Amino acid sequence: MRTAIVTGGSRGIGLAIVKQLTEDGFHCVIFDMREPDAEEVRLIREKGREPLYIPGDVTLPADRERLIDQTLRVFSAVHVLVNNAGVGPSVRADLLDMAEDSWDRVLGVNTKAAMFLTQAIAKQMIGQAVCGGKRGVIINIGSCSAEVSSVNRGEYCVSKAGMSMLTKLYADRLAREGIWVNEVRPGVIMTEMTGGVKAKYDALIEQGVFPIARWGTPQDVAGAVSALVSDRFLYTTGAVIDVDGGFHIKRL
Ligand code: NDP
Repeated sequence: MRTAIVTGGSRGIGLAIVKQLTEDGFHCVIFDMREPDAEEVRLIREKGREPLYIPGDVTLPADRERLIDQTLRVFSAVHVLVNNAGVGPSVRADLLDMAEDSWDRVLGVNTKAAMFLTQAIAKQMIGQAVCGGKRGVIINIGSCSAEVSSVNRGEYCVSKAGMSMLTKLYADRLAREGIWVNEVRPGVIMTEMTGGVKAKYDALIEQGVFPIARWGTPQDVAGAVSALVSDRFLYTTGAVIDVDGGFHIKRL
């Protein structure tokens, strides 16, 4: 059985990815600061196997090390890493008022932690046997904010633009090792993260800003991850898959 680590897998998009990959036959490891809801865990167990929950903060090197040690103690290999854990700014402040500690926090979680967790997991994957046509797959959960300017959460936009470059860099470096790295780029997805700005996005959907005129769901994102980590994508790396209802299309 293959193993998949999903950071921030206790709720929202990460939890949907855990559910989907479990259905696909993976044994999932949830790495998150908060334990997943017991009822959700029961439902996942019914779909296949209970996920292994490892508490931790992606920004802490010691926690990342513990994640890898514990995972390898239970399973012998890591086949998939999904860098999903992410945060928005606690306060949406205009670019001219952005606080330095908000920049550090958002880039720390969304970009720096993904950089160094990927580095550690890639080193592990390189020593593993080829399985299903590759040694491993890394998926970065990016955001349309990598391309779209929001001047009241600039640190988030920069963090996701940085993650997009990380995808290209690691795809380039790891292709020779038989490891594929791709980005899944959501648009507006209904989760706790967007709960506070629901009315704003409801109005944009109503105005036709998104060609597919509805909220995205965590399952929409999980479906794309499932396809990319399957054995049907063996000649794709460094790609960006938009899961945004066509929001990225420039229109006149
Ligand atoms: P949520 O806020 O609903 O869930 C994020 C999860 O990540 C939570 O379980 C959270 O834990 C966990 N997490 C946050 N910080 C850390 C950390 N330092 N270490 C470990 N776990 C952490 O977010 P979404 O599900 O909406 O977002 C998931 C990903 O998708 C993020 O990278 C986000 O940027 C991206 N995305 C989301 C979009 C949306 O519209 N929702 C759109 C585009 C991209 P805790 O509960 O303890 O906070």
